[in-house]
Amino acid sequence: DEDLALLDGGLGAGGEAGPAGPVPVVAVVGRPNVGKSTLVNRVLGRREAVVLDTPGVTRDRVTYPAEWAGRSFTLVDTGGWEVDVAGLDARVAEQAEVAIDLADVVVFVVDATVGATATDERVVRLLRRSGKPVVLAANKVDGPQLEADAAALWNLGLGEPHPISALHGRGTGDLLDAVLEVMPEVSAYGRAGTGEGGPRRVALVGRPNVGKSSLLNALVGSQRVVVDPVAGTTRDPVDELVAIGDREWWFVDTAGIRRRVHQTSGADFYASLRTQAAIEKAEVAVVLIDSSDVLTEQDTRVVTQVVDSGRALVIAYNKWDLMDEDRRRYLEREIERDLVQVQWAPRINIAAKTGWHTNRLVGALETALESWDTRVPTGRLNAFLGELVAAHPHPLRGGKQPRILFATQADTRPPRFVIFATGFLEAGYRRFIERRLRETFGFEGSPIHISVRVRE
Ligand code: GDP
Ligand code: GDP
Repeated sequence: DEDLALLDGGLGAGGEAGPAGPVPVVAVVGRPNVGKSTLVNRVLGRREAVVLDTPGVTRDRVTYPAEWAGRSFTLVDTGGWEVDVAGLDARVAEQAEVAIDLADVVVFVVDATVGATATDERVVRLLRRSGKPVVLAANKVDGPQLEADAAALWNLGLGEPHPISALHGRGTGDLLDAVLEVMPEVSAYGRAGTGEGGPRRVALVGRPNVGKSSLLNALVGSQRVVVDPVAGTTRDPVDELVAIGDREWWFVDTAGIRRRVHQTSGADFYASLRTQAAIEKAEVAVVLIDSSDVLTEQDTRVVTQVVDSGRALVIAYNKWDLMDEDRRRYLEREIERDLVQVQWAPRINIAAKTGWHTNRLVGALETALESWDTRVPTGRLNAFLGELVAAHPHPLRGGKQPRILFATQADTRPPRFVIFATGFLEAGYRRFIERRLRETFGFEGSPIHISVRVRE
């Protein structure tokens, strides 16, 4: 069977974090033009055309699911974004710091034909301080005559330089083997939150100044912050375990929220990188929106990131203390226009600054996670589909009418359904099925995914 059609309309492509916890994060770091993007593309097996991103265009997506020798990890690509030459040194260090912070393993790429520069040395200091495993890639070693250039990089003090040619693929397999050797089974970020019935992982996301750190403070301030129970942990407290009521929650990447890296230059890029990484570490994301301001493209982009990553979603309209009648009417129209595709997300109106209604967050999180975990028994699913199809058959097109034979829920977190049919199902009809699935089974707060397989 072949997947002939995936439901469009922004239903999650699915996340990598299963019940076993988030997969490890491998970040590729280095100066501009050393070949980071080329290396990432090689690892992902993308074709040449995709490699050539338009210069100066900041990509939204910075993390990608990757695999080597049967092991999955998340690859963080920090290449392909524009650096202004004036602040280059500081920018590279800043970018590296964010990426290192998020990573379980760092691949540090140096251009062997240039050798180590002062900027490289600066990144090396950051790497040392982080205490994270580093694999040194000596890139642009296109042939054996350049091996000596790679060997010269021993003096960086990061251990063995791995000579590679990202462009031609030379040595990249050995490099990946070296990465796997030091890569943990599960991302350290989520390791304590992965047990059955353990604390769930929550990301607080949203554009700068929407009130993420205020909300975190409101939640933590009145509550008990639980000390990381994992013995011998030396890493930054990037995640915090917070007890709210009778339950504990992991709030992921709180260091990023507190440190406010996003307020420095290149704000968009860092914000986007942090957001994507936080979402991928989490099971449920709370997207904060500043209800006193207009809804921006940046707000809807964060919502899309959550949905595309297949995570559960709660939307919190913050700064509700500043709300008035006019603004409120306007906001409802904006929501109707720009967020209609996530009407299924629980919505809470809060004021993080005063703590007003922040106690409603837990209920919303629980609802969303319950939907995310839901499994519909095959019998019930097919009874539902049978009735639906009998009452509303697929429209006749060109004398043909695809029949739905059978459906099953292939996965949870988020729920994924596979429908077997005798022909392609129109997008409109698939959306209709999704709507009815939601009406019948709920799924409040969870993206759902439907694919169709065509059987003769
Ligand atoms: P980034 O800024 O670090 O992401 O660097 P890019 O991946 O965009 O690569 C910068 C330039 O170096 C591009 O022109 C690449 O084609 C080139 N490049 C990357 N890897 C290699 C390599 O292994 N050998 C050679 N000769 N050129 C490379
Ligand atoms: P972050 O960048 O998303 O972490 O946002 P912050 O938590 O730093 O908040 C940005 C600004 O909004 C600060 O000046 C906060 O005091 C203010 N702020 C946050 N929450 C509220 C709220 O509920 N009401 C009002 N009026 N201001 C708020």
